[in-house]
Amino acid sequence: MSSDLFRVIGGPQNYAWGKLGSSSAVARFAHANDPEHVSIDESLPYAELWMGTHPKVPTTLYSSGEKLADVISSNPEKYLGPKIIAKFGSKTELPFLFKVLSIEKVLSIQAHPDKKLAGQLHKSDPKNYPDDNHKPEMAVALTDFEAFCGFKPLSLIKEHLEKIPEFSKLVGADITQEYISSPSKATLQKVFSKVMNAEEDVVAKYAGELLERTKSQPEAFGATLADLIQRLDVQFPGDVGLFCGCLMLNHCILKSGEAMFLQACEPHAYISGDIMECMAASDNVIRAGFTPKFKDVAVLVDSLTYSTNNVEEQKLTPAPFARGSGDATFALYDPPIDEFSVLQIEFKSSGKAQMKGVDGPSILIVSEGTGKLFIKGEESSSTLDAFEGGVYFIAPDAEVEIVNTSGKPFTLYRAYCEA
Ligand SMILES: [Zn+2]
Repeated sequence: MSSDLFRVIGGPQNYAWGKLGSSSAVARFAHANDPEHVSIDESLPYAELWMGTHPKVPTTLYSSGEKLADVISSNPEKYLGPKIIAKFGSKTELPFLFKVLSIEKVLSIQAHPDKKLAGQLHKSDPKNYPDDNHKPEMAVALTDFEAFCGFKPLSLIKEHLEKIPEFSKLVGADITQEYISSPSKATLQKVFSKVMNAEEDVVAKYAGELLERTKSQPEAFGATLADLIQRLDVQFPGDVGLFCGCLMLNHCILKSGEAMFLQACEPHAYISGDIMECMAASDNVIRAGFTPKFKDVAVLVDSLTYSTNNVEEQKLTPAPFARGSGDATFALYDPPIDEFSVLQIEFKSSGKAQMKGVDGPSILIVSEGTGKLFIKGEESSSTLDAFEGGVYFIAPDAEVEIVNTSGKPFTLYRAYCEA
C-alpha cells in the first residue's frame, strides 16, 4: 500500500428522509466499499455517507480499520501539509466533510450562520449551536436533483401575494399592501417574519386552503409549483414550509453534474435526488420549516441576507482544472471559500488521465464505473482497484494517475483543500 494513496471506508447514516434500500446511492456505495460490514436492508432509508474526520462518524482505513483522524495525527505534516495546519489550526481533522446524499423527502429549510454570527450564537446558546464555525455547503447533482435555494425574485413573490389569497391572508393585509407597493429587502423581511411567526393552527388552516387551490386553480401557481406544494404537503401536512419554502424560495432543478453553492445566511433545503455534498466541518443550522426540530425564528429572521436571485444565478459554473491532463474531462467546482473545492473527473470511455499534486489533503470517490488508480510512476507497487462506491485518501502533493480500460463511462469526485 502506498502511504500517499489508500482506500478508506466512510459511514452511512439512516436518517428518515433518505431513499430506501438499494434505490439509495448511499446504500449502494457503502455496501460496495465495505460489503463485509454494510448489507442493504430494503426497508431502511439510507440518507448520507460521510467521508472525513468528523468524530461522530469517523472514516477508517480499509487495510487496518484505523481511524483516518488517527493516521493524520500520526504525521499531520505529511497528511494535511504545513499550510493547512497553519491555516485551520488542527493536526487531526480535515477542514471539510465530504458526503453522498440520497434524498427521498424534503430536508429542513435552513440557513447557516457566517463566522461572526456563529461565534455569537455558540457563545450564547452552545446547545443549539455546537461550534463557532461557519458552514458553507456545495451540492453537485449525481442524478436529477431539486432544492430550495435563496429567495425568489421580488417580483415573483409579489405575484404570489397578488394571486394566492391564502398567502396574503397569512401575511395580513397591511404587510401585503406594503410589500406590493414597494417590494424590497426590507419589506421581504417583514413578509418572511410574519409567515415564520404565525401560529401553527393558523398556518395549518391556510395551508389546507392553499392545497385546495393548487387543485381547483393550478394556473395561479404554474404547474411545477402546484405539483411541488402537493408533494410536500404529503410529506409535511400543513407545514409553514409550504409558504416560506414553496412560495418564497427558488425551486432549483439541477441535472447531473450541475452544482450550487449555498452562501452563509441564505435559506435553502434539499428536496429530492442524489448528490455529492461538501461542507466546512461545522454543525450550525438555523431551521425554518419542514422540521420537527428546534426553530430559532428570531435569529433566522434577523440573520438572513434577503438577497434575491433567479434560479439560474444560484448555479455554480465549473472551471477547468489546469493540473489535470489525459483522456478525462475535469470540471472544478470552486466556491469562494477556503475549506474545499470539488473536482469531477469524467471518462466517456477507455483512457488514462493524470492529476498533478494538490497542496492539501483529498478524498476521492467513484460515482460510476470501474478503473485503476495509482501514484505516478508506481503502477506496479501502488495500484488500487477503483469501483463504484470506492473511497480513497490522497496525501498532499501526490500525483495520481487514473486508468479506465472498461470502455464504459467512469466518473470520480475529488474533494480537496488547498491553503
Ligand atoms: Zn444546509
